[in-house]
Amino acid sequence: MKHPAAPVDVPACSCCGEPAVIYQPVSRRHLCGIHLVRDVEKRVASTINEAGQIHAGDRIAVALSGGKDSTALLVILSRLLPAWPGADLVAITVDEGIAGYRTDTIRAAEALTGRLGVDHRIVSFRDLVGADLDTLLAGRETEACTICGILRKKALTDAARTAGATAIATGHNLDDEAQSMLMNAFRGDLPRLVRNTGTGRSALFLPRIKPLAAVTEKEIAAYLFVQGLFSVLPECPYTRYALRAEVRSLLAGLEDRHPGTMQHLADNKKSIERYCAGTPVMESLHHCRECGDPCSGEICQVCRLRHSLGK
Ligand code: SF4
Ligand code: ZN
Repeated sequence: MKHPAAPVDVPACSCCGEPAVIYQPVSRRHLCGIHLVRDVEKRVASTINEAGQIHAGDRIAVALSGGKDSTALLVILSRLLPAWPGADLVAITVDEGIAGYRTDTIRAAEALTGRLGVDHRIVSFRDLVGADLDTLLAGRETEACTICGILRKKALTDAARTAGATAIATGHNLDDEAQSMLMNAFRGDLPRLVRNTGTGRSALFLPRIKPLAAVTEKEIAAYLFVQGLFSVLPECPYTRYALRAEVRSLLAGLEDRHPGTMQHLADNKKSIERYCAGTPVMESLHHCRECGDPCSGEICQVCRLRHSLGK
């Protein structure tokens, strides 16, 4: 049914007939702003509940880069949180030290946490290893995302533990999950593909949860846009070295021609994780002999990296 308010060439919302702002190819629905916001928040709540990601009394550390995924994550979690009595949020921003990029996103993160009244902590690579990413990368730019990823995970985990968090929530969306599935397949890295610390609670790990894993990047952008929360921020200058950037554009083309491709890849990732749970494919864990952090070999990635960087 087309609502009288819907302009002739704009599809009508499948729920109310108002002008639609997005088309969901898998469910084949058009949604207006109000129904998109409801739909996204409902699906995030289902993801959390189905996987038991949040419990009453939890303190969730939200990895807040200030970009659109983590902004949407913090907004949605702050709305959903009353469902878990006693649960609260702390936002953690990691300043990698990337000139011309981080200042704007940190400012956006500060403004958002101020508006939502969420405790906000900023930690940096400089605090962690004594230097900015830009300095660490001199001559090693092609390894930017690997080095950045290892140090960011460590900085985030340490800050979350210091803040008394019981879990870390990251803004990974459905596109990220589909990209990870392909990237790990391309690298032949099955253990990484099936590694899932999201639901298990152990003394070794702070569980990492991905409440946005069923929501596409496009839906997140539209979710923010219709609420006036979307801002254009600079892109990290090292993105061009990332395998993820190539996989991302490959998948975008496939999704265009074959709608639902990303959903199917993300579904496959979940099936493989379920199938491999408890099998020898999952690496056994030890403590790093240098820093004591959990790791799969004798020495953890962070300590290995410190040695190679001379830190
Ligand atoms: Fe770090 Fe790579 Fe992301 Fe830049 S694109 S912030 S270097 S992981
Ligand atoms: Zn270590």
